[in-house]
Parts: sequence; structure tokens; C-alpha cells
Amino acid sequence: MVTDMPQKKIIMFKDKKIALVAHDNKKFDLLEWAVFNRNLLSKHEIYATGTTGEILRARLGLKIKKLQSGPLGGDQQVGAKIVSNEIDFLIFFWDPLEPQPHDPDVKALLRMAVVWNIPIACNRASADFMISSPLMAGEYNRLIPDYEDYRKRRIN
Ligand code: PGA
Repeated sequence: MVTDMPQKKIIMFKDKKIALVAHDNKKFDLLEWAVFNRNLLSKHEIYATGTTGEILRARLGLKIKKLQSGPLGGDQQVGAKIVSNEIDFLIFFWDPLEPQPHDPDVKALLRMAVVWNIPIACNRASADFMISSPLMAGEYNRLIPDYEDYRKRRIN
């Protein structure tokens, strides 16, 4: 059944607040991608988990807001910033072939990105398509369900 669920808008401004995260086996991939897209990235505010951020800063020479290393809580910090609208764009090259000590955090981060309807790219092709979208150049209204109904739900 299709219902008319009320929705809210969150404005994404022209300057996006982009988080970059890569698992160890994907760091080189992200670095190459970021070097290629350096000019574009320099127009936005960049956040990254600790180790990813350090590698990117050294190579790109851009100002990067570094959070904790992912397994030490960095993924959770990114998730919390999505919730408080301090991050609105996520490039997250996670490794599909290796178990991670912080798998629950990875899942939680991806979940928050979906709950708050932010663009997420989990591999290089998606990141290419996402960053070259005409929507990057302007404001965008992110639609999210109006969670008021959820907050006011009846607890028996
Ligand atoms: P790192 O964290 O950038 O500190 O390596 C990435 C991650 O595993 O989430």
C-alpha cells in the first residue's frame, strides 16, 4: 500500500560537507580518486576518518577535518555528524572481502546515511557518477520522512 507519508526538507548547500572513509585495502583507490578530483573537492568541506584523512592531507594538501580512526570510533563520529547535519555527503570505500573489527560501526554508519537520505558512494564508479552530477553545483533539497510520527508513536 502506498501512503502519503509526510516529508521534511533539509537543504544541502552548494558547498557540501563531504566525508571520505576507506578501509585499508581501499585506501589507495580512494587516494587515486581524490587526487583526480582534487579541484572539485577543494570547493567543499572535507571530513575524513583518522588514517584516511592523514593520507589524503599529505597527498592533496587540502584542509581536512580529521576524526578518530574508524575502528576507534571514527565511523561513529561520521554517523553522529550525519544526524546533526554536519556531514551531508559520504564517500565510503568499504572492503567487501575482509572482516573488519568494527563491522557493527560500518553497518551503523551506512544505516544513518540511509535514515537521513544523504548521498553515499561505496565504490569508485558510484563516486565518479555522484561527484560529476550536475546537482553538485547548487543547492539541493534532501527529502526525509517526517520522523515526528515515529517520535510520537504509542508505546503500550
Ligand atoms: P581509518 O578508518 O581512516 O582511520 O583507517 C577507516 C575505517 O575503517 O572506517
